[in-house]
Amino acid sequence: MIPFTTVEAAETSLGRAMTWAEALWFRYSRSTPDYCLCFQSFLILFAAYTLAPLPLTLLELCAPSKMTPPYKVQSKVRLSPVAFLRCYKDTAIVLLLLTFGPLQLVAYAALKVSGMRTGLPLPSAGEVAAQLVVYMLMEDYLGYWFHRFLHSEWIYDNIHYVHHEFRAPMGFAAAHAHWFESLVLGFAAFISIFAVPCHMITCWLWFAIRGIAGVEIHCGFNLPFSPTKLIPFYGGAEFHDYHHHCGGKWNHSNLAPLFTFCDYIYGTHSVYRNQNSSIVKVHSYFRHLTPFYIHVHQSLFLLKCTMQIYEIIKYFSSRRIQLILIWGKKLVDPKAGKKVREYLHFRYVLQDLFS
Ligand SMILES: [Zn+2]
Ligand SMILES: [Zn+2]
Repeated sequence: MIPFTTVEAAETSLGRAMTWAEALWFRYSRSTPDYCLCFQSFLILFAAYTLAPLPLTLLELCAPSKMTPPYKVQSKVRLSPVAFLRCYKDTAIVLLLLTFGPLQLVAYAALKVSGMRTGLPLPSAGEVAAQLVVYMLMEDYLGYWFHRFLHSEWIYDNIHYVHHEFRAPMGFAAAHAHWFESLVLGFAAFISIFAVPCHMITCWLWFAIRGIAGVEIHCGFNLPFSPTKLIPFYGGAEFHDYHHHCGGKWNHSNLAPLFTFCDYIYGTHSVYRNQNSSIVKVHSYFRHLTPFYIHVHQSLFLLKCTMQIYEIIKYFSSRRIQLILIWGKKLVDPKAGKKVREYLHFRYVLQDLFS
Protein backbone atom coordinates (compact mmCIF):
# COMPACT_ATOMS: atom_id res chain seq x y z
CA MET A 1 0.00 0.00 0.00
CA ILE A 2 1.30 3.45 -0.91
CA PRO A 3 1.94 5.45 2.30
CA PHE A 4 0.36 8.64 0.90
CA THR A 5 -3.30 9.55 0.76
CA THR A 6 -3.08 12.49 -1.64
CA VAL A 7 -1.37 13.14 -4.98
CA GLU A 8 0.34 16.22 -3.52
CA ALA A 9 1.92 14.23 -0.69
CA ALA A 10 3.15 11.59 -3.16
CA GLU A 11 4.62 14.22 -5.52
CA THR A 12 6.28 16.04 -2.61
CA SER A 13 7.91 12.78 -1.60
CA LEU A 14 9.03 12.12 -5.18
CA GLY A 15 10.30 15.68 -5.65
CA ARG A 16 8.62 15.89 -9.06
CA ALA A 17 5.27 15.46 -10.79
CA MET A 18 4.04 11.91 -11.27
CA THR A 19 4.09 10.37 -14.75
CA TRP A 20 0.77 9.10 -16.15
CA ALA A 21 1.78 5.52 -15.27
CA GLU A 22 2.65 6.50 -11.70
CA ALA A 23 -0.65 8.42 -11.34
CA LEU A 24 -2.52 5.33 -12.56
CA TRP A 25 -0.65 3.08 -10.14
CA PHE A 26 -1.22 5.56 -7.29
CA ARG A 27 -4.99 5.55 -7.89
CA TYR A 28 -5.10 1.75 -8.19
CA SER A 29 -2.92 0.74 -5.24
CA ARG A 30 -3.52 3.58 -2.77
CA SER A 31 -6.15 1.68 -0.81
CA THR A 32 -5.13 -1.90 -1.66
CA PRO A 33 -3.11 -3.86 0.92
CA ASP A 34 0.12 -5.42 -0.33
CA TYR A 35 -1.07 -9.00 0.23
CA CYS A 36 -4.02 -8.29 -2.12
CA LEU A 37 -1.59 -6.99 -4.78
CA CYS A 38 0.47 -10.16 -4.29
CA PHE A 39 -2.63 -12.35 -4.67
CA GLN A 40 -3.39 -10.58 -7.96
CA SER A 41 -0.14 -12.07 -9.36
CA PHE A 42 -1.84 -15.48 -9.19
CA LEU A 43 -4.98 -14.11 -10.82
CA ILE A 44 -2.86 -12.74 -13.69
CA LEU A 45 -1.14 -16.12 -14.10
CA PHE A 46 -4.51 -17.91 -14.06
CA ALA A 47 -6.01 -15.42 -16.53
CA ALA A 48 -3.04 -15.96 -18.88
CA TYR A 49 -3.50 -19.74 -18.76
CA THR A 50 -7.24 -19.36 -19.37
CA LEU A 51 -7.43 -16.60 -21.98
CA ALA A 52 -4.23 -16.99 -24.02
CA PRO A 53 -5.14 -20.45 -25.45
CA LEU A 54 -8.65 -19.35 -26.55
CA PRO A 55 -7.87 -17.93 -30.06
CA LEU A 56 -6.00 -21.04 -31.26
CA THR A 57 -8.50 -23.34 -29.50
CA LEU A 58 -11.34 -21.70 -31.44
CA LEU A 59 -9.27 -21.93 -34.64
CA GLU A 60 -8.71 -25.67 -34.17
CA LEU A 61 -12.34 -26.35 -33.24
CA CYS A 62 -14.09 -24.11 -35.76
CA ALA A 63 -11.79 -23.69 -38.79
CA PRO A 64 -12.22 -26.03 -41.77
CA SER A 65 -9.82 -28.98 -41.58
CA LYS A 66 -7.90 -27.80 -44.68
CA MET A 67 -7.00 -24.45 -43.10
CA THR A 68 -4.98 -25.58 -40.06
CA PRO A 69 -2.42 -28.16 -41.41
CA PRO A 70 0.11 -25.62 -42.76
CA TYR A 71 0.47 -24.14 -39.27
CA LYS A 72 -0.29 -27.17 -37.07
CA VAL A 73 2.86 -28.95 -35.86
CA GLN A 74 1.16 -32.36 -35.79
CA SER A 75 -0.95 -31.65 -38.83
CA LYS A 76 -2.93 -34.91 -38.82
CA VAL A 77 -4.14 -34.50 -35.23
CA ARG A 78 -7.40 -32.67 -34.56
CA LEU A 79 -8.40 -32.50 -30.90
CA SER A 80 -12.05 -32.78 -29.87
CA PRO A 81 -14.00 -30.21 -27.79
CA VAL A 82 -14.23 -32.85 -25.03
CA ALA A 83 -10.42 -33.10 -24.86
CA PHE A 84 -10.09 -29.29 -24.60
CA LEU A 85 -12.75 -29.10 -21.90
CA ARG A 86 -11.30 -31.96 -19.83
CA CYS A 87 -7.78 -30.51 -20.05
CA TYR A 88 -8.93 -27.06 -18.91
CA LYS A 89 -11.11 -28.44 -16.10
CA ASP A 90 -8.30 -30.62 -14.69
CA THR A 91 -5.81 -27.76 -14.98
CA ALA A 92 -8.09 -25.24 -13.28
CA ILE A 93 -8.79 -27.57 -10.34
CA VAL A 94 -5.09 -28.28 -9.76
CA LEU A 95 -4.06 -24.62 -10.14
CA LEU A 96 -6.80 -23.03 -8.04
CA LEU A 97 -7.18 -25.55 -5.23
CA LEU A 98 -3.90 -27.41 -4.89
CA THR A 99 -1.29 -24.90 -6.09
CA PHE A 100 -2.39 -21.31 -5.48
CA GLY A 101 -3.80 -22.10 -2.02
CA PRO A 102 -0.54 -23.40 -0.45
CA LEU A 103 1.51 -20.78 -2.34
CA GLN A 104 -0.58 -17.98 -0.83
CA LEU A 105 0.55 -19.03 2.63
CA VAL A 106 4.21 -18.29 1.89
CA ALA A 107 4.36 -16.11 -1.24
CA TYR A 108 3.54 -12.76 0.37
CA ALA A 109 5.94 -13.27 3.29
CA ALA A 110 8.70 -14.46 0.91
CA LEU A 111 8.23 -11.45 -1.38
CA LYS A 112 8.29 -9.01 1.54
CA VAL A 113 11.50 -10.57 2.87
CA SER A 114 13.03 -10.42 -0.63
CA GLY A 115 12.51 -6.64 -0.74
CA MET A 116 9.79 -6.37 -3.38
CA ARG A 117 8.44 -2.82 -3.74
CA THR A 118 4.85 -1.73 -4.24
CA GLY A 119 5.23 2.05 -3.90
CA LEU A 120 6.58 4.93 -5.96
CA PRO A 121 8.57 5.65 -8.07
CA LEU A 122 7.80 3.00 -10.66
CA PRO A 123 10.80 1.24 -12.27
CA SER A 124 12.05 2.52 -15.62
CA ALA A 125 11.37 0.55 -18.82
CA GLY A 126 15.06 -0.40 -19.00
CA GLU A 127 15.05 -1.75 -15.42
CA VAL A 128 11.90 -3.79 -16.10
CA ALA A 129 13.33 -5.20 -19.35
CA ALA A 130 16.68 -6.13 -17.72
CA GLN A 131 14.93 -7.87 -14.82
CA LEU A 132 12.60 -9.79 -17.15
CA VAL A 133 15.58 -11.03 -19.19
CA VAL A 134 17.26 -12.25 -15.98
CA TYR A 135 14.05 -13.97 -14.84
CA MET A 136 13.64 -15.72 -18.21
CA LEU A 137 17.24 -16.96 -18.21
CA MET A 138 16.94 -18.22 -14.61
CA GLU A 139 13.57 -19.82 -15.34
CA ASP A 140 15.01 -21.56 -18.37
CA TYR A 141 18.07 -22.90 -16.55
CA LEU A 142 16.20 -24.06 -13.43
CA GLY A 143 13.31 -25.36 -15.54
CA TYR A 144 15.70 -27.40 -17.67
CA TRP A 145 17.19 -29.25 -14.68
CA PHE A 146 13.84 -29.69 -12.94
CA HIS A 147 12.35 -31.12 -16.15
CA ARG A 148 15.35 -33.44 -16.50
CA PHE A 149 14.73 -34.61 -12.91
CA LEU A 150 11.03 -35.18 -13.74
CA HIS A 151 12.08 -37.64 -16.45
CA SER A 152 13.81 -39.96 -13.97
CA GLU A 153 11.97 -43.28 -13.71
CA TRP A 154 10.02 -43.06 -10.43
CA ILE A 155 9.23 -39.34 -10.72
CA TYR A 156 7.96 -39.77 -14.28
CA ASP A 157 5.80 -42.81 -13.45
CA ASN A 158 4.18 -41.09 -10.47
CA ILE A 159 4.18 -37.36 -11.29
CA HIS A 160 5.31 -36.14 -14.70
CA TYR A 161 3.22 -38.67 -16.69
CA VAL A 162 0.20 -36.38 -16.15
CA HIS A 163 1.80 -33.57 -18.17
CA HIS A 164 2.62 -36.03 -20.97
CA GLU A 165 -0.97 -37.27 -21.27
CA PHE A 166 -1.44 -35.16 -24.41
CA ARG A 167 1.05 -36.29 -27.07
CA ALA A 168 -0.34 -33.54 -29.29
CA PRO A 169 -0.42 -30.65 -26.79
CA MET A 170 -2.81 -27.70 -26.72
CA GLY A 171 -2.55 -24.30 -25.02
CA PHE A 172 -4.50 -25.48 -21.96
CA ALA A 173 -1.95 -28.30 -21.47
CA ALA A 174 0.68 -25.73 -20.42
CA ALA A 175 -0.38 -26.11 -16.78
CA HIS A 176 -1.86 -29.62 -17.12
CA ALA A 177 0.28 -31.40 -14.55
CA HIS A 178 0.31 -33.31 -11.27
CA TRP A 179 -0.38 -31.01 -8.29
CA PHE A 180 3.15 -31.59 -6.94
CA GLU A 181 4.75 -30.51 -10.25
CA SER A 182 2.53 -27.41 -10.38
CA LEU A 183 3.41 -26.55 -6.78
CA VAL A 184 7.17 -26.84 -7.33
CA LEU A 185 6.96 -24.82 -10.57
CA GLY A 186 4.91 -22.20 -8.68
CA PHE A 187 7.66 -21.90 -6.06
CA ALA A 188 10.27 -21.79 -8.83
CA ALA A 189 8.57 -18.69 -10.27
CA PHE A 190 9.42 -16.85 -7.04
CA ILE A 191 13.06 -17.97 -6.88
CA SER A 192 14.15 -15.51 -9.56
CA ILE A 193 12.12 -12.67 -7.94
CA PHE A 194 13.69 -13.56 -4.61
CA ALA A 195 17.18 -13.44 -6.17
CA VAL A 196 16.56 -10.16 -8.05
CA PRO A 197 13.87 -8.15 -6.19
CA CYS A 198 11.57 -6.03 -8.33
CA HIS A 199 8.50 -3.84 -8.24
CA MET A 200 5.06 -5.48 -8.07
CA ILE A 201 4.34 -4.23 -11.62
CA THR A 202 7.39 -6.17 -12.91
CA CYS A 203 6.18 -9.23 -10.99
CA TRP A 204 2.78 -9.02 -12.68
CA LEU A 205 4.45 -8.63 -16.08
CA TRP A 206 6.71 -11.61 -15.37
CA PHE A 207 3.75 -13.80 -14.38
CA ALA A 208 1.83 -12.77 -17.52
CA ILE A 209 4.87 -13.48 -19.76
CA ARG A 210 5.48 -16.82 -18.00
CA GLY A 211 1.85 -17.86 -18.51
CA ILE A 212 1.68 -16.78 -22.17
CA ALA A 213 5.06 -18.38 -22.99
CA GLY A 214 3.86 -21.66 -21.43
CA VAL A 215 0.72 -21.53 -23.55
CA GLU A 216 2.69 -20.63 -26.70
CA ILE A 217 5.07 -23.61 -26.48
CA HIS A 218 2.11 -25.97 -25.94
CA CYS A 219 -0.31 -24.44 -28.46
CA GLY A 220 0.46 -26.99 -31.20
CA PHE A 221 0.73 -24.29 -33.88
CA ASN A 222 3.96 -23.04 -35.42
CA LEU A 223 2.89 -19.60 -36.59
CA PRO A 224 5.39 -17.93 -38.95
CA PHE A 225 4.29 -14.44 -37.89
CA SER A 226 4.71 -15.07 -34.13
CA PRO A 227 6.79 -12.28 -32.50
CA THR A 228 8.73 -14.97 -30.58
CA LYS A 229 10.46 -15.85 -33.89
CA LEU A 230 12.49 -12.66 -33.38
CA ILE A 231 13.90 -13.83 -30.01
CA PRO A 232 17.34 -15.44 -30.41
CA PHE A 233 17.59 -19.11 -29.31
CA TYR A 234 13.84 -19.27 -28.51
CA GLY A 235 12.52 -22.84 -28.77
CA GLY A 236 8.84 -22.25 -29.45
CA ALA A 237 5.94 -24.59 -30.17
CA GLU A 238 7.70 -26.91 -32.63
CA PHE A 239 10.62 -27.46 -30.21
CA HIS A 240 8.45 -28.41 -27.21
CA ASP A 241 5.88 -30.24 -29.34
CA TYR A 242 8.62 -32.71 -30.25
CA HIS A 243 9.14 -33.43 -26.53
CA HIS A 244 5.44 -34.27 -26.12
CA HIS A 245 5.14 -36.16 -29.39
CA CYS A 246 8.04 -38.51 -28.58
CA GLY A 247 6.85 -38.71 -24.96
CA GLY A 248 7.94 -41.20 -22.33
CA LYS A 249 10.26 -41.18 -19.36
CA TRP A 250 13.32 -41.93 -21.48
CA ASN A 251 12.74 -38.98 -23.80
CA HIS A 252 15.57 -36.69 -22.71
CA SER A 253 15.16 -34.32 -25.62
CA ASN A 254 14.06 -30.67 -25.76
CA LEU A 255 13.75 -30.25 -21.99
CA ALA A 256 14.25 -26.50 -21.59
CA PRO A 257 11.03 -24.48 -21.28
CA LEU A 258 12.00 -21.34 -23.22
CA PHE A 259 15.33 -21.38 -25.04
CA THR A 260 17.35 -23.98 -26.91
CA PHE A 261 20.85 -23.38 -25.55
CA CYS A 262 20.54 -25.53 -22.38
CA ASP A 263 19.59 -28.54 -24.52
CA TYR A 264 22.46 -27.66 -26.87
CA ILE A 265 25.04 -27.29 -24.06
CA TYR A 266 24.01 -30.49 -22.24
CA GLY A 267 23.50 -32.51 -25.42
CA THR A 268 19.77 -33.20 -25.09
CA HIS A 269 18.70 -31.82 -28.45
CA SER A 270 20.77 -33.98 -30.83
CA VAL A 271 17.93 -36.46 -31.51
CA TYR A 272 15.56 -33.62 -32.39
CA ARG A 273 18.16 -31.85 -34.52
CA ASN A 274 19.04 -34.98 -36.50
CA GLN A 275 15.48 -36.13 -36.92
CA ASN A 276 14.21 -32.69 -37.71
CA SER A 277 16.85 -32.03 -40.36
CA SER A 278 16.31 -35.44 -41.98
CA ILE A 279 12.54 -34.96 -41.95
CA VAL A 280 12.93 -31.52 -43.49
CA LYS A 281 15.27 -32.87 -46.17
CA VAL A 282 12.95 -35.75 -47.13
CA HIS A 283 9.91 -33.50 -47.04
CA SER A 284 11.48 -30.84 -49.25
CA TYR A 285 12.84 -33.51 -51.64
CA PHE A 286 9.45 -35.13 -52.21
CA ARG A 287 7.59 -31.84 -52.21
CA HIS A 288 9.60 -30.70 -55.24
CA LEU A 289 9.58 -34.09 -56.93
CA THR A 290 5.97 -35.04 -56.29
CA PRO A 291 4.79 -35.20 -59.97
CA PHE A 292 7.93 -37.14 -60.90
CA TYR A 293 7.50 -39.44 -57.89
CA ILE A 294 3.90 -40.23 -58.92
CA HIS A 295 5.05 -41.19 -62.43
CA VAL A 296 7.81 -43.41 -61.00
CA HIS A 297 5.32 -45.06 -58.65
CA GLN A 298 2.86 -45.74 -61.49
CA SER A 299 5.65 -47.12 -63.71
CA LEU A 300 6.81 -49.45 -60.93
CA PHE A 301 3.23 -50.66 -60.42
CA LEU A 302 2.93 -51.49 -64.15
CA LEU A 303 6.32 -53.23 -64.06
CA LYS A 304 5.20 -55.26 -61.02
CA CYS A 305 2.02 -56.37 -62.83
CA THR A 306 4.06 -57.30 -65.90
CA MET A 307 6.49 -59.33 -63.78
CA GLN A 308 3.65 -61.19 -62.11
CA ILE A 309 2.17 -62.09 -65.51
CA TYR A 310 5.63 -63.16 -66.63
CA GLU A 311 5.98 -65.35 -63.51
CA ILE A 312 2.69 -67.11 -64.27
CA ILE A 313 3.62 -67.75 -67.92
CA LYS A 314 7.07 -68.89 -66.87
CA TYR A 315 5.66 -71.34 -64.33
CA PHE A 316 3.34 -72.94 -66.81
CA SER A 317 6.08 -73.17 -69.42
CA SER A 318 8.17 -75.21 -66.91
CA ARG A 319 10.87 -72.60 -66.87
CA ARG A 320 11.55 -73.41 -63.23
CA ILE A 321 12.24 -77.04 -64.14
CA GLN A 322 14.69 -75.95 -66.83
CA LEU A 323 16.51 -73.72 -64.33
CA ILE A 324 16.79 -76.55 -61.80
CA LEU A 325 18.42 -78.61 -64.52
CA ILE A 326 20.83 -75.76 -65.30
CA TRP A 327 21.59 -75.44 -61.54
CA GLY A 328 22.46 -79.12 -61.50
CA LYS A 329 24.83 -78.59 -64.41
CA LYS A 330 26.75 -75.74 -62.77
CA LEU A 331 29.32 -78.06 -61.21
CA VAL A 332 30.44 -79.11 -64.63
CA ASP A 333 29.53 -76.00 -66.61
CA PRO A 334 30.57 -72.68 -64.94
CA LYS A 335 28.68 -70.62 -67.58
CA ALA A 336 25.36 -72.33 -66.68
CA GLY A 337 26.01 -71.72 -62.95
CA LYS A 338 26.61 -68.05 -63.65
CA LYS A 339 23.25 -67.79 -65.41
CA VAL A 340 21.47 -69.27 -62.37
CA ARG A 341 23.19 -66.86 -59.99
CA GLU A 342 22.30 -63.91 -62.21
CA TYR A 343 18.69 -65.03 -62.39
CA LEU A 344 18.41 -65.59 -58.62
CA HIS A 345 20.09 -62.25 -57.88
CA PHE A 346 17.65 -60.54 -60.24
CA ARG A 347 14.74 -62.19 -58.40
CA TYR A 348 16.02 -61.11 -54.96
CA VAL A 349 16.37 -57.53 -56.18
CA LEU A 350 12.83 -57.56 -57.53
CA GLN A 351 11.48 -59.12 -54.33
CA ASP A 352 13.16 -56.39 -52.26
CA LEU A 353 11.81 -53.73 -54.57
CA PHE A 354 8.19 -54.85 -54.51
CA SER A 355 7.84 -56.33 -51.05
ZN1 LIG B 1 8.58 -33.93 -20.01
ZN1 LIG C 1 5.01 -29.59 -21.90
